Amino acid sequence: METIEKQLSSEIKEIALKYGASLVGIVSTTAYNAHPTINVKWDNLGSTKKITDIMPNSKSIVVVGYHFWDDMLDIAIKKDDEWIYPGYFPLTTIKHIIKSHLETKGYTVYDDPFISLKRVAQLAGFGNYGKNALIINPIYGPWIRQDAILTDAKLAPDKPFTEDLCENCERCIKACPVDALSPYKIDYNKCLVGVQLLNTNKDLERYKRSFTKNSHLMCVVCQKACPYGREKHN
Ligand code: SF4
Ligand code: SF4
Repeated sequence: METIEKQLSSEIKEIALKYGASLVGIVSTTAYNAHPTINVKWDNLGSTKKITDIMPNSKSIVVVGYHFWDDMLDIAIKKDDEWIYPGYFPLTTIKHIIKSHLETKGYTVYDDPFISLKRVAQLAGFGNYGKNALIINPIYGPWIRQDAILTDAKLAPDKPFTEDLCENCERCIKACPVDALSPYKIDYNKCLVGVQLLNTNKDLERYKRSFTKNSHLMCVVCQKACPYGREKHN
């Protein structure tokens, strides 16, 4: 007989896929907490927290992935003083629907945790942390974005992704126009995605792909260089 945790996990996965997720996986809080915290230099956000520092009774992390099938999804738009990323809206919707499902069953959910989304994606089996500092999935390549919620529901965890799809490839490193990449590391002070938002780099004007003063496409050069996921991207 199927255990309650397996049944609930299947329900959540079915819902996520039905509402547009390309990938969905589950990580136990203990598995995530076994890793050290990460200093997020992007926008100087500080160190990520242990899950239990965010939600003390958390048992599981539900991770959802969405395939960025077109460059247009990498758009950034300035709204008042903040940048927003419409390409990520489907993930917010899917998270909201899973949250409602869990809450209806009496569980608690925390839906905006400051954790390493790339680490949970690897632990959920989505792919490896690639040399371009993005998750590389065997089907979608680097064109996958992820988000996560925490819950006190005990769910059946998935297996982590353990291969290194990059192996000897260095195409992304060679393709980056501003030398922001070295294997598995990104220089946040050079990468055009960050500096475009922070407006701090002399190369900015040269590579900018703006539509209006308050909207632009983010740099995707390293993603386009990746051999994985090409046939599925416009
Ligand atoms: S997004 Fe652009 S600038 Fe940033 S690492 Fe990739 S290729 Fe380089
Ligand atoms: S281009 Fe090659 S090295 Fe870079 S992320 Fe893709 S597979 Fe890895």
